[in-house]
Amino acid sequence: MTQLQSAQAGIITPAMRQVATDENVDVARVCEAVARGHAVIPLNPAHTSARPIGVGRLFRTKVNANIGRSTQRSACREEQRKLQVALTAGADFVMDLSVGADLASIRQGLLDASPVPLGTVPVYETISRMQGDVPQMNPDLLLKVIREQAEQGVDFMTLHAGLLHRHVPMAMQRIMGIVSRGGAIMAEWMQTHNRENPLYERWDEVLEILVRHDVTVSLGDGLRPGCLADASDAAQFGELDVLGDLVQRCRRAGVQVMVEGPGHVPFNQIQMNMEREQQVCDGAPFYVLGPVVTDIAPGYDHITSCIGATAATVYGASLLCYVTPAEHLGLPDEDEVHQGMIAYRIAAHAGDVARGLPGARDRDDAMSRARAAFDWKRQFELALDGPHAQARWQKTRTHTDEAQDDHCSMCGPEFCAMRTTKRIRDAKNPASAS
Ligand code: SF4
Repeated sequence: MTQLQSAQAGIITPAMRQVATDENVDVARVCEAVARGHAVIPLNPAHTSARPIGVGRLFRTKVNANIGRSTQRSACREEQRKLQVALTAGADFVMDLSVGADLASIRQGLLDASPVPLGTVPVYETISRMQGDVPQMNPDLLLKVIREQAEQGVDFMTLHAGLLHRHVPMAMQRIMGIVSRGGAIMAEWMQTHNRENPLYERWDEVLEILVRHDVTVSLGDGLRPGCLADASDAAQFGELDVLGDLVQRCRRAGVQVMVEGPGHVPFNQIQMNMEREQQVCDGAPFYVLGPVVTDIAPGYDHITSCIGATAATVYGASLLCYVTPAEHLGLPDEDEVHQGMIAYRIAAHAGDVARGLPGARDRDDAMSRARAAFDWKRQFELALDGPHAQARWQKTRTHTDEAQDDHCSMCGPEFCAMRTTKRIRDAKNPASAS
């Protein structure tokens, strides 16, 4: 039975118990959220090293790190190192987006090394096996790849089943057209053969495979906007309506499902986008990339997208896909993976505080108390990136005497406002000063 089927039957699984403990939520509420499809626990039983992690509005917002080799750069060992960098920085999920040769063994290495659930985009392997010949993609091969990856232990898969033949001309009206790799592949195949999306046509067969292995579907947004001018257009929302229907078909088949979202969206359209997805997809967990809120800062798109991701978290997203400083420019290196992860943990956490998730602010309050007490050690323990904070502090520390650590080099001892505050407090309450 899948987690969804168990929940629908009122059976509480060990995975639900683990999620309830980790999230400090009553297990009955976890079970109910999974049963309604408002939460998912992507966990393929064949991925024995992975732990269950819940995705949904009931829980802390999660962050996914994309890694994977391109045909131009990187090798298996580099991707293994990126996996470790992402995990150390706090990745809740990892997706292997590798393309090229020998993908099964790269994936096996990542599955073995990953204690968090791992996702893929099976059409990448399908096209890789055909040496990049998109028009010749064989739908039977695509289903075979989905089956093989499910058997291997992949926990969740992005499937671009909602982009239909009728949407392609709409997307061609845009400035950027189609910016999703998977979406562009499906569109070119449909255009070449004048046929419907094979994943959509054979969705029941796909679900039969996925239900057998409890693989969670991540419904791909093949028509996510790739620039501000293309956001919230007929193509994007036309695909979203199909995704809403596919959500219901997944749930009826007992397959856990989440929905992927934009993309590039002006800040003032983010709330509407989040609410529309929640309504059209009946509360299915929303997995968003960014959104990027301005198109003019290549090299800094971990920042442009984190601004959007924070708003997305407040208004409806449950899982954020990180964006690194390399976005739009190249394959990220290890340092960029680290920067992207930290940026997205900030966005997820800031969003959780803003939406009032119980306990979300506890760590901030502990940090504030440590700051007021000049407890630097505690500050670095609480920091999202403690080693970075400590190294930065050390860099301009003006003395080595710990007794003088009641200020930093920003204002110096004479002008340290926290130091002055302490004097005011001590003067008001001489007893506590002695
Ligand atoms: S010196 Fe300035 S920045 Fe540093 S702890 Fe004091 S008030 Fe804060």
